Amino acid sequence: MEVVETSAQLAAKIKDFKASGKTIGFVPTMGALHQGHLSLVKEAGRLCDVVVVSVFVNPTQFNNPDDLDRYPRDIEKDMALLRQTACELLFVPSVNEVYPEPDTRVFDFGSIDKVMEGQFRPGHFIGVAQVVSRLFDIVRPHKAFFGAKDFQQIAVVREMVRQLNMSVQVVDCPIIREEDGLAMSSRNLLLNDEQRKKAPLIARSLFDSCNFALANGVKETRQMVMDAINASNQLEVEYFEIVDGNTLQPVMLWDDSDYIVGCIAVYAGEIRLIDNVVYKNSMS
Ligand code: AMP
Repeated sequence: MEVVETSAQLAAKIKDFKASGKTIGFVPTMGALHQGHLSLVKEAGRLCDVVVVSVFVNPTQFNNPDDLDRYPRDIEKDMALLRQTACELLFVPSVNEVYPEPDTRVFDFGSIDKVMEGQFRPGHFIGVAQVVSRLFDIVRPHKAFFGAKDFQQIAVVREMVRQLNMSVQVVDCPIIREEDGLAMSSRNLLLNDEQRKKAPLIARSLFDSCNFALANGVKETRQMVMDAINASNQLEVEYFEIVDGNTLQPVMLWDDSDYIVGCIAVYAGEIRLIDNVVYKNSMS
């Protein structure tokens, strides 16, 4: 694995790989890597000849400066983990490298980014679109891999690729969980013991709600999840929405769509965790 810090170096290496007919798979991350990230690297290795991973904590997608300050960073450990994978090129750019000039682009993703994460983290998805489009411009991958844990992010990236007419194929990969069900996340490292003990209640409530949903309506199911999680003194639901998996708009009835997903954001103290569960997907 080669570690590259500049866009020019990375672009030159990728050009050489492409000249020899190789396909490029790209996994953008913010580091503090865990098995969730590594599952994307594995899938990229399965589907592409060369895997490029980036580790870059993107300041423009943090709407809360404290969240950016305390975001976990451990590049040495990240490199050690990636050396055991299919990753061939690791891109670790500085902020100036990604943004030689401040990125003032504004995106409009219609109704997709006005709800849930878009509503509670104003500007977040503009930052995501800025960094992902910039990284796609540098790497020019054939395929890019994203985790379903950030369900809405995938929809936003797909819409961005469509709007900017990019040729990259966006591949989504399943949520990887701890043994107790908690969705793996770099932010889990920030939980104290008490919060960490309670955090699996998020996933457990989502899973339980799939059974509950068989005999109950959307409204009741939504309430059941919020009540179950809020009953813990360590956790507080910020939002839980049951939405159409394509449009991300709330559904009223289970018959409203063939693809229905429940998306949640929960605070454990200052730490914000997200997760989701698929109630219905006629495509799978
Ligand atoms: P992040 O470093 O949090 O920006 O995440 C980088 C990529 O890894 C994103 O596409 C995430 O959706 C994905 N990811 C993070 N956690 C998980 C997980 N538990 N399972 C699968 N993918 C994940």
